[in-house]
Amino acid sequence: MSLFAAVAMAPRDPILGLNEQFNADPNPNKVNLGVGVYYDDNGKLPLLACVAAAESQMLAAPKARGYLPIDGIAAYDQAVQGLVFGADSDVVKTKRVATVQALGGTGGLKVGADFLKKLNPSAKVLISDPSWENHRALFTSAGFQVETYPYYDAANRGIHFDGMLAALKAAPAGTIVVLHACCHNPTGYDLSSAQWEQVVEAVKTAGLVPFLDMAYQGFGEGIAEDGAVIRQFLAAGLDFFVSTSFSKSFSLYGERVGALSVVCSTAEETTKVLSQLKIVIRTNYSNPPTHGAQVVATVLSTPALRAQWEEELGGMRVRIRQMREALVQELKAAGITDDLNFITRQKGMFSYSGLSVEQMQRLRSEFGIYGVDSGRICVAALNSKNIKAVAAAIAAVKK
Ligand code: PMP
Repeated sequence: MSLFAAVAMAPRDPILGLNEQFNADPNPNKVNLGVGVYYDDNGKLPLLACVAAAESQMLAAPKARGYLPIDGIAAYDQAVQGLVFGADSDVVKTKRVATVQALGGTGGLKVGADFLKKLNPSAKVLISDPSWENHRALFTSAGFQVETYPYYDAANRGIHFDGMLAALKAAPAGTIVVLHACCHNPTGYDLSSAQWEQVVEAVKTAGLVPFLDMAYQGFGEGIAEDGAVIRQFLAAGLDFFVSTSFSKSFSLYGERVGALSVVCSTAEETTKVLSQLKIVIRTNYSNPPTHGAQVVATVLSTPALRAQWEEELGGMRVRIRQMREALVQELKAAGITDDLNFITRQKGMFSYSGLSVEQMQRLRSEFGIYGVDSGRICVAALNSKNIKAVAAAIAAVKK
């Protein structure tokens, strides 16, 4: 018998599998609203001008590619801290944040999960219901039992906040709670700052371990606004985790640029935590790659490039908002009389459309419009050319 005869076929990744189906579809009018990627109004993945400028600078003074330190480029880690916590924040000035470069936001989550597993092997993990598909898989593969807290309220098209709060209050001390810092994936519904205040209070009282996933900073209300929740956790004096992704905000998906930051109570603890994060990294992939993080560090630490980045990110944010408004208008024009305000209340790349599995499948088979079976569509892939067709198709499957 061969070594691999007993290997079972694993299921396809639900979202990346959808991409394969999309690529194979011969329909010339097909639209991919599945994967969470920002496209410009021409349907193209943008290369940000600030990124191209940083790369030109790097090319003008080419460097040999030695190994990076295990925790990555120091200037990058510092830039991440500045962005997430504020360079002048008390935690950064008193050296109470351990930040490591990671392979995208996913890498940050995974390094954090592996470290937490060593720290508290019997802790449970709570993720939102629903959440980004990979949260469950990633924490499960790190060895945790993963459960959910209520989040989406389908009937009221919003957040089941009372249920969420009750679940957090009832969770045993030490439970790890994964929270979407902004632009909740997949629903698009974010907590208000007053609601965050209650979450912070509940987490503190119950002794939970908050793990904030920040994959879309700048896509909701703005860079500072989307990061405001971090300051609320800081103000409460909590120890917590933050994973950062620059995949979307720098349109650097394939470069795998992200980070993990762990806020600790003292500088001494921070040094120890950092030493443990380095062991996790060393035993997984040894050290991170050079290019993407150098690009991001250059942009964030060069005032002119940083200003350009903020403007370009603002442009993406505004275009997504315009597409939300246009979708509402086009759906109304196509004869939909439902209250559609939820589409513009949602934040970030996604809209939980409320469409059923059958309706999503009809969108695919009859119209070549690919969204996720859950009803999630990527608003950041709508543009002035495809929006009418998408709205007409949605109206058709809703009839
Ligand atoms: N967290 C959430 C909520 C996400 O939506 C994503 C990306 N889809 C990630 C993390 C991972 O980001 P990255 O591609 O940088 O690993």
